[in-house]
Amino acid sequence: MDAKTCLQKLQYVGVLAFATVDERGGPQIRSISAIHYEPEALYFFTAKGKEFCRQLLSDGRVQILGYTKYKEMIRLSAKAKPAAGQTTWIETIFAEQPYLSNVYPEDTGKLAGIVFEISDGEIEYFHLGVNPIFRENYTIGAGQISKKGYQITDACISCGICMESCPQRCITSGTPCQIQQEHCLHCGNCHMVCPIQAVEKRG
Ligand code: SF4
Ligand code: SF4
Repeated sequence: MDAKTCLQKLQYVGVLAFATVDERGGPQIRSISAIHYEPEALYFFTAKGKEFCRQLLSDGRVQILGYTKYKEMIRLSAKAKPAAGQTTWIETIFAEQPYLSNVYPEDTGKLAGIVFEISDGEIEYFHLGVNPIFRENYTIGAGQISKKGYQITDACISCGICMESCPQRCITSGTPCQIQQEHCLHCGNCHMVCPIQAVEKRG
């Protein structure tokens, strides 16, 4: 798996959830399919008058989520910015998504619309359809990976209690014991059961 493949999978999903933050700090989410994909970037269309556009212009942070029929969750966290060459991108997206010409006939789409670009971001890939589960993070452009989940510190006394409570059996014995991060659910069981608090949150 890699960032390009994740973007291809999002393209196959087609309709994605886009979450932003409004002016009161509240979550706002909507479905978007007016998207054009490049190997390591995506471009999406919305209308300048929508709250979505205002939130993107004032804050820019966006999370995009897709879920495949194979139980793969793909989440892209990024900042969106207005794309250079608006007319070209609007024409590209309208050519790829013919329904848009019904929603915005003639040149009304060029008047109402704006295309945002996402070329820097972090992708989280989380596959629940395999055993053990699999997760990995990737970046596009200047995106950075944020650490999540749990890790075991040197305080570990190797008692094995966390290994028994781990639903994915992804803790290997040792001094200290180690969490196989690519198979970890982030469920927190190990953190809750450790008798000496040797399991800490990452990040
Ligand atoms: S967070 Fe859950 S899945 Fe991950 S190592 Fe701990 S118990 Fe296992
Ligand atoms: S429960 Fe705590 S001390 Fe015991 S093996 Fe796990 S991390 Fe180490």
